[in-house]
Amino acid sequence: MVTLHNLGFPRIGAQRELKFGLESYWKGESPRQALQALGAQLRQTHWQQQAGLDWVPVGDFSFYDQVLDMSFTLGHLPERVQGFHGDVLDNYFRVARGRSAGHAEHPGCCAGVAAGEMTKWFDTNYHYIVPEFSASTTFTLDASRLLAQLAEAQAQGVRAKPVLIGPVTYLALGKAKDGTDKLALLERLLPVYAQLLDTLAAQGVQWVQIDEPILATELGADWQHALTTAYHQLKSCRVNILLASYFGPLLDNKYLAAHLPVAGLHIDAVSGRDDVLALLGLLPAHKVLSLGVIDGRNVWKTDLTALLDWLEPLAARLGERLWLAPSCSLLHVPVDLASEPQLAPDICAWLAFARQKLDELRLLGQALHQGRQAVAAELAANAADLAARRASPRVHRPEVQAAVAAITPALGQRHSPYAVRAALQATQLQLPPYPTTTIGSFPQTPEIRRARSAFKRGALPAAAYQAAMQAEIAHSVREQEALGLDVLVHGEAERNDMVEYFGEQLEGYAFSQFGWVQSYGSRCVKPPILFGDIHRPQAMTVGWSTYAQSLTDKPMKGMLTGPVTLLNWSFVRDDQPRAVTCQQLALAIRAEVLELEKAGIRIIQIDEAALREGLPLRHSQWPAYLDWAVASFRLCANGVHDATQIHTHMCYSEFNDIIAAIAHMDADVITIETSRSHMELLDAFEHFEYPNAIGPGVYDIHSPNIPTQDSMVQLMRQAGRRIAANQLWVNPDCGLKTRQWNEVLPALRAMVAAAQALRAA
Ligand code: GLN
Ligand code: ZN
Repeated sequence: MVTLHNLGFPRIGAQRELKFGLESYWKGESPRQALQALGAQLRQTHWQQQAGLDWVPVGDFSFYDQVLDMSFTLGHLPERVQGFHGDVLDNYFRVARGRSAGHAEHPGCCAGVAAGEMTKWFDTNYHYIVPEFSASTTFTLDASRLLAQLAEAQAQGVRAKPVLIGPVTYLALGKAKDGTDKLALLERLLPVYAQLLDTLAAQGVQWVQIDEPILATELGADWQHALTTAYHQLKSCRVNILLASYFGPLLDNKYLAAHLPVAGLHIDAVSGRDDVLALLGLLPAHKVLSLGVIDGRNVWKTDLTALLDWLEPLAARLGERLWLAPSCSLLHVPVDLASEPQLAPDICAWLAFARQKLDELRLLGQALHQGRQAVAAELAANAADLAARRASPRVHRPEVQAAVAAITPALGQRHSPYAVRAALQATQLQLPPYPTTTIGSFPQTPEIRRARSAFKRGALPAAAYQAAMQAEIAHSVREQEALGLDVLVHGEAERNDMVEYFGEQLEGYAFSQFGWVQSYGSRCVKPPILFGDIHRPQAMTVGWSTYAQSLTDKPMKGMLTGPVTLLNWSFVRDDQPRAVTCQQLALAIRAEVLELEKAGIRIIQIDEAALREGLPLRHSQWPAYLDWAVASFRLCANGVHDATQIHTHMCYSEFNDIIAAIAHMDADVITIETSRSHMELLDAFEHFEYPNAIGPGVYDIHSPNIPTQDSMVQLMRQAGRRIAANQLWVNPDCGLKTRQWNEVLPALRAMVAAAQALRAA
């Protein structure tokens, strides 16, 4: 009957053990053996937690990144790490983060090296280390890591299914800086994969999971052909290949996927359920079909009864050929709901983290093997929890739904076109040419963090906390006035995180304590859980902003996080379209915008740091996303009077493909990341006449280096070749919260001097 398996398990540990172990090892505070032992212990725990599945992933554990692991397995290391002292793991961390652990005895050769570039893993918030290809790239098998983990699993009696990134996805994820055609490397790559598969077969492996998530993207004929070539060449290997696609439906790749010569196909049956019927017709009769039916990207309980209604006929039809799994690796969800005693019990009852998702999977297996009556009590409990969620007044608020229903395009429309507004704003704000400003946050000092955590613990009374934050605001206002900045900010001392700060004040949001998800290496994020209709009970920022404005005659920017960013950096509801949730967030932020305006704040910045991240994997779906995302921004921002100046901020370096949508947001001023890419991204502005004002970030806040006045003047001159001088602002490329005051002050002093030099010219 049905076979149960898993594609990957979170490796960071329920208490982020791996994070702390890695960081202590990197600092030289704990020895290599301690890190190795921690890895083994985490793997063992995670395999135990997957007990009862027919196949358990092996090789999904990683000390940094699974793509980097694959590069090392393929013997594919950048040349710049060759010739250093140490072993493979030292080099591994060199590529991952620029240096291995702190070895004082090798100061020369261990000074550090450029880390590999990092980029987002498909449409998730996980970042992988980009493989670096060139014409001279070669591959040689190093199966040692995988074989060691396999031996460990086999010794523990685990039914091991090694997991690999497929050759075609591996090539697709890499970059060839010298312009080499990546697909030309396929023929060098495939023999190494074949050797690896045979090596695994020799160790008694029956099934190998090979991930090719590019099957969920649009594929040109050359990439389709590469998949066909690859799997025809690997089909003579002595293992069964389970080819795994996830993160979206197969759509037009169905035929290709169904006919690749492998023993089984895994698909994302959460987002791609509509593919299944057609696949049944397409799949050759001997092939396994693995359905990823439990959502590996979100935190909600599965409706098991509804799923069984759908699965039972499929199980009858497919028999032994049916496998079940989560839709993708569970890397993208927190580990264990049992670590969350502080979550409200009603909300807790609607959720499933990685371990709970595997419980659901086991239950499905049992229901299919033994009939539903064998698990009747569990199914009834699941149904009751979901019914409670559907009926909860915390989830459904008629007044919010009525407000969404009443949204009209007029709400997202400024009264006058930009030119009219700009003229009015110029007379009211009296800003010089090349106005200077910052992106919002100032250094989050240890004192600020201490005060905030004491306040949260209840150890600092509200009045004392408010006084402490006001003192920080006053300090940052004094510094900005002394620097001579034109548009000031309050500094965001009161914010821990730009999403959490707003989520905590909005009804409809819940927060876990240990709901960490790996973002890259040892870094984790804890996305808030958006569970219900969004209601803003009271003003969230007005008090801080008006206090800050009261200290200065210069305009004080109100500082908000935009609806699309709040959405994209949260776990969001699966019971209504993302677009609707975004509209609710937009209405809440709109209310804040209008209240700030009413309180006398003349400039309001609405950050949309994550707008680009929400882009669907398939380009054909971009317009639909951009439509509602931009409409939500317009809804939240554009209810103000002409004289109120709206800013937005985005920290990306790729604009070319979405510039029209960005312009349609109609913010009066947009500040963007440009310094690291040397204004390269302004290419977008060459072919597109951006109508409103732009502040191209003139220095990289991610580096502790102090930029020179001259370098910033040069960058602005470069920008000036594409954008009219009266459209330009001068600002850093992002918020300054991760920097220290002794870095920020000289940098901003030089930036203000750069603006003065530009004005004088
Ligand atoms: N206003 C935020 C800050 O300055 C923006 C952060 C961001 O873009 N990531 O910190
Ligand atoms: Zn930013």
